[in-house]
Amino acid sequence: MTDRQEVLPQRISARIKDVGGVPVSRALPVKERRQIGAWCFLDHAGPAVFKGDDGMKVGPHPHIGLQTFTWMLEGEVLHRDSLGSEQIIRPGQVNLMTAGRGITHTEDSAGRNARLHAAQLWIALPPADSTIAPRFDHYPDLPVWHHDQVSFTLLTGEYGDHRSPVLHFSPLIGMDLLAQQATQTTLDTRPDFEYGFFVLEGQLTYRGEVYTANELVYVGEGLSSVTLTLMKGSRLLLLGGTPVQERIMMWWNFVGYDVQTLQQAVSDWNNGDIRFGTVENAPREPLPAPSYPASRL
Ligand code: MN
Repeated sequence: MTDRQEVLPQRISARIKDVGGVPVSRALPVKERRQIGAWCFLDHAGPAVFKGDDGMKVGPHPHIGLQTFTWMLEGEVLHRDSLGSEQIIRPGQVNLMTAGRGITHTEDSAGRNARLHAAQLWIALPPADSTIAPRFDHYPDLPVWHHDQVSFTLLTGEYGDHRSPVLHFSPLIGMDLLAQQATQTTLDTRPDFEYGFFVLEGQLTYRGEVYTANELVYVGEGLSSVTLTLMKGSRLLLLGGTPVQERIMMWWNFVGYDVQTLQQAVSDWNNGDIRFGTVENAPREPLPAPSYPASRL
């Protein structure tokens, strides 16, 4: 939903949060911006180097109503879920877990390489698809091309003649841009999409304003192109999609369109309901769901 009071472009600074022992920079949702298209959550982990046994260790926890979308830049993370999926994700790959009516997963740093650099995003499923059967998909190969000294990877959606294989349920795009040299590039954008650019590394200049790592610039809708100036080595995530008309509600790891759905998920998870299944041989105890706050009813 578009906030009509906002001044564009809107600068959003990520907040530091702890996820499974790893500090992450969270750029969505924040009070000044809840979503970009159906993208409703953006965590940026690293770049970091771990010592010994340190690293990401996220115990069993559930999701509903969303897709978790993991884009790996450095290091390896093992995903396991209640469907029996067990998948290591490596740099240049996407893991996509479509939660639908309910799923449980764990995420743990893996491999000898103790580095971690990743983005984890959530995509809200549209109301008609929010209770579909859960599934997990791994995408080791995504469209990659080079233009204006920039390496582009199409994470989801379409761009020009390129089409990502990643399953999605609403009109949206995700793209990674890595500047091989200091450069300027102009992207074609869809006027019916709203867009944002998140700086993973380096520096972006957009309309004369400089944005650095862990800043998100929301540029709104109605644009048919955007021109970006990038320092050498800069890396961005482009996120876009058609503005969602319904009010997306989030509580803990749950996404829905009404309070009752979220409250039911909290209750079902804490009572061990079979809708969420079980991650076999999980190395840690399940994380309890906090009660839905009365102040938000
Ligand atoms: Mn999760």
